[in-house]
Amino acid sequence: MSTYDFIIVGAGSCGCVLANRLSAQSKHRVLLLEAGPSDRSFLKGFWTHLPIGYGKLFTDASVNWRYQTESEPNLQGRKMYWPRGKVLGGSSSINAMVWARGFPTDYYAWNQVARGWAWNDVEPVFRQIENWSGASSAARGHDGPQAVFDTRNDAHALSENFIRAATSLGYPETSDYNGTDFEGVGRYQLSISRGMRASTARSYLHPIKSRPNLTVITSAEVTELNWSNNRISGVSWQKKGRVHQAVAKNEVVLSAGAIGSPLLMQRAGIGSPELLSELGIPVRHANSNVGANLQDHLGADAAYKASVPTLNNELLGWPARAKAAARYVVSRRGPLSLSGNHAGGFVRSQPSEPIPDLQLYFSPMSYSRAPSNTRPMITLDDFAGFLVGFNPCRPTSRGRVQITSQDLRAAPSIEANYLSTEHDRQLMLRGMRIVRQLAAAQPLAKVIDNEMSPSASVQSDDELMAFVEQAAWTVFHPCGTCRMGDNPVDAVVDATLRVNGVPGLRVVDASVFPTVPSGNTNAPCIMVAERASGMILRNY
Ligand SMILES: Cc1cc2nc3c(=O)[nH]c(=O)nc-3n(C[C@H](O)[C@H](O)[C@H](O)COP(=O)(O)OP(=O)(O)OC[C@H]3O[C@@H](n4cnc5c(N)ncnc54)[C@H](O)[C@@H]3O)c2cc1C
Repeated sequence: MSTYDFIIVGAGSCGCVLANRLSAQSKHRVLLLEAGPSDRSFLKGFWTHLPIGYGKLFTDASVNWRYQTESEPNLQGRKMYWPRGKVLGGSSSINAMVWARGFPTDYYAWNQVARGWAWNDVEPVFRQIENWSGASSAARGHDGPQAVFDTRNDAHALSENFIRAATSLGYPETSDYNGTDFEGVGRYQLSISRGMRASTARSYLHPIKSRPNLTVITSAEVTELNWSNNRISGVSWQKKGRVHQAVAKNEVVLSAGAIGSPLLMQRAGIGSPELLSELGIPVRHANSNVGANLQDHLGADAAYKASVPTLNNELLGWPARAKAAARYVVSRRGPLSLSGNHAGGFVRSQPSEPIPDLQLYFSPMSYSRAPSNTRPMITLDDFAGFLVGFNPCRPTSRGRVQITSQDLRAAPSIEANYLSTEHDRQLMLRGMRIVRQLAAAQPLAKVIDNEMSPSASVQSDDELMAFVEQAAWTVFHPCGTCRMGDNPVDAVVDATLRVNGVPGLRVVDASVFPTVPSGNTNAPCIMVAERASGMILRNY
């Protein structure tokens, strides 16, 4: 059995950052275990790195955990499809690449429950992370490891129609929603560099993978956290049907994501005593917060048939694809070099809101024919179309994640519990109304043939709500299932992310977020991992 100073479970957004920072000190021996394959394998590597490859990886079991929720009671009993990355880079290797830090108020709220996570604590870290390609600004970082691409000159021309539609309704325009003006609409910033996806595997791991004190093992699924003298002393994992073990002299760090981390803890006897007893698992540390507090952004959109060409026209048919491919090869630009979200931003659903409470998305493509139970993504409409969508920024519905058996292969139970609060339901209605207003505003109205969905027949609140229940989708931001907090009664980890009552174990991933940030979650994950690395290194 090998011994390391640190064992990191999961090479996702957070795990790759930790592997880099912890192994930067040559005295530390670091083992990074990832259940999925390398992101550089033949063919898969191609789609992982090509930004538009997002659609290809969306349901690909070789790089994706393809979770499913339980029947959601407030979404007409639908089981929602939840993709999660299972590959070096984790979900940052399969995500839609929108870069959003969240609002200062998000982190003031974190700081209320876990001291040391206020905006003043985290803002300098965001700057250190970023390699921002846009205009030089004191609010942005320009020489960090993580590329953030300014799409100002590359976003589809119709993005301008979307932005003008929004400003005509009185919403402000922002030139940098991650800088000083987080309110308003503009072009999205993306984790892309030189036309290729900038996952954390690419930004943090590959440049340092040959360090002699870092061992990276792929296709290695951690099956157990091992106990010794009432502390977590190491892990067991399976690779090609064989079981392996390693010992962690200092700590095991769970970075298996908001689903994976609580599941591993529950299997190790850390969790709700009722659940563990029911499944015949000895309770090693009772804490019912493990797997609870699950949060996610729920989104909805309207699809429009366009009277002018959209990205559909640039991606459909071999002549168009060949042209896009040639442009990409020559310049690393064009439709293949971007994700589907070209513009959007943060707006207030009503003037009385103190800060924005809706995130908007403009996607200059449409894909309304869905494979069953998945959010449609791969099959583009064979005519010009686009989507205008939104999600509430700070939903108040809470769900949970639980193992269902001692058997590793048994699917977990995921209850998102979407729309279980009136706050969330009202915001979905207001969001749908705002999408409609945007489409009716002249800059967009003049390029719309007709609304394909929900369609003109859907007008009343009840009809709109029924549409939301039948069509809303995850925005892929599950978090909160091992939340941090100063009070061990309602937290899983403390403010330094050590698991309360379980020596030798830390959690560093989206599961420690006490509340979901107002924007997308990848940037906050990277920030959390950067800060956690500092905390860990200071301890050892
Ligand atoms: C389809 C999709 C689109 C998204 N779009 C955006 C976006 O546009 N912008 C944005 O900011 N965010 C987006 N997100 C969310 C964002 O990518 C995630 O919040 C973030 O990557 C989560 O980071 P993490 O480190 O917590 O987990 P992950 O990055 O998911 O990493 C967890 C890693 O642990 C591994 N793992 C799990 N269990 C085990 C085990 N037992 N043994 C070994 N390894 C294990 C997994 O395979 C994975 O590699 C999207 C996510 C998805 C899935």
